[in-house]
Amino acid sequence: MRSDASAKLFDRAKTLMPGGVSSPVRAIYPHPFYVSRAEGPYLWDVDGNRFIDYCLAYGPMILGHRHPLVMERVVDQLRKGWLYGTPSELEVNLAQRIADHYPSIDMLRFVNTGTEATMAALRIARGATGRDKIVKVEGGFHGAHDSVLIKAGSGATTLGTPDSLGVPLDVAKNTLQVAYNDPEALETLLHRFRGEVAAVIMEPVLGNIGPILPREGYLQSVRDLTLDEDVLLIFDEVITGFRLSLGGAQKHYGVTPDMTTLGKIIGGGFPIGVVGGRKDLMEQVSPGGGIYQAGTFNGSPISLTAGTATLDVLEKDGMLELLNASGEKMRKALSDIVEDLGLGYSVSGIASIFKVFFGKEPKNYAEALRCDKEGYLAFFRRMLEAGIFLPPSQFETNFISAVHSDEIIDDTLEAYKSNLRG
Ligand SMILES: *Cc1c(COP(=O)(O)O)cnc(C)c1O
Repeated sequence: MRSDASAKLFDRAKTLMPGGVSSPVRAIYPHPFYVSRAEGPYLWDVDGNRFIDYCLAYGPMILGHRHPLVMERVVDQLRKGWLYGTPSELEVNLAQRIADHYPSIDMLRFVNTGTEATMAALRIARGATGRDKIVKVEGGFHGAHDSVLIKAGSGATTLGTPDSLGVPLDVAKNTLQVAYNDPEALETLLHRFRGEVAAVIMEPVLGNIGPILPREGYLQSVRDLTLDEDVLLIFDEVITGFRLSLGGAQKHYGVTPDMTTLGKIIGGGFPIGVVGGRKDLMEQVSPGGGIYQAGTFNGSPISLTAGTATLDVLEKDGMLELLNASGEKMRKALSDIVEDLGLGYSVSGIASIFKVFFGKEPKNYAEALRCDKEGYLAFFRRMLEAGIFLPPSQFETNFISAVHSDEIIDDTLEAYKSNLRG
C-alpha cells in the first residue's frame, strides 16, 4: 500500500494541530490516510488507495457517501442560501417528522452536535429539577464536555474523577457512575443519593466501547427505577436514533425516556444535534423559560436539508429492514469465522452495527477493557492493507451503510477470515 502523500501531510499536520488531527480517534499510527474523495461505500486517499468504509464517519453516513438525493437537495438549498439567522420552514417540518417517529419527544431544539445536545439535555434536567447530580453509565460516551468526561472508577458505584485534565473536580463530583446492565447498582446509587440526582443519561445500546447490548429487561428496569426515584431518564440516541429503527432504541426496546438526544444520521452527514423530550421540560428552555440554550448555527438549513433527505430515503418501505439484514448476515458469518478460529473472540452488534471483540462478549465497560486492544490494532492495520477501513480502535463501532452490497460484504468476510489470525 502506497502512503507517501499521506505520510507527508501528517508530518505537516503534526506541527499545526495537536497530534496532527482534528479529533483524537483519527490519529492512526504511524499516520492516518488522507481522504481525497468518497463515493457510496468507498473512500479514496491521496495516494490512490481505495478503502471499503465501515467507519462511515462514526455513524452519520447511513446511506453511504454522496447519496444522490441528499446531494441534489443540498445543492438546491445552497442556491437558496445556507444560513439565515432566522427561522425556516425546514426546521418546522423536520421537527414534526422527528416528533412523529419519537412519541417521547413533544418538543425539541436543533443544535449543532451530539455534544451540544447532551450538554443541553443535562442543563434542562438540572434546571427543571433544581438538582446538580447526574448519573452516567461507565463507558457511555456523550461527547466532549465537562459533565460527561468522567472515567469509570473501580467498584460498582463511585464518585467521578475527571477523564481529562481541565475538568474541574467541582464538576466531576456531580457525575456519578454506574455499570451498564446492572440495575441493582443503579438502585443502590439512586437510593443513596435520593433527592440529589437530576437525571440518568445513557446510551440505550453502548456504542462507544464497541457495541454492548442491554440484557433482557435492563432498560425497562432503568425506566422503572428512575420513575420510582423521581429521576429523569435521558436516552442518548446519537448513534441508535434512526438506526435501530426510525424511532431509535426506545421504539425497538419499547422503553420511553423523558428526554432524548439525537445527532449523526439526522444531519445526513452535516453537523447536527437534537435535544427533545416532554413538553413540560422543553417549555422551560429559553426564550419560553429560564434554561438558556442558543446557537448561531442552530437549525442550519444545510444540515436540516441533508437530514430531511436522509429521512426521506430511510422512510421508504423495507429500507431499514434491508440494511439490518446486511448487519445480520455480517454478524452471523463473522460468528462462524470467529468460532472456527478458536481464539475466544466474539461478535456483537444489532441492526447495521457490528464488531469483533478480541475477547469474550462484554456486558459492560470493565469487561470490554479486558479485550486485546493491541491485537485489535494490528488486525486493523492488516485490514487497512487489504483495502478495508474499520474504525481504528477495539472500542469503536463498525457501521454498515445502505450501499454496502452483498458482494462487498462477502469480500469483507473473506478479508476477516484471512486477517483475524495474526
Ligand atoms: C458521537 C456521539 C456523541 C457526540 O456527538 P458529536 O456530534 O460528535 O458531538 C454523543 N453521544 C453519542 C452516543 C455519540 O455516539
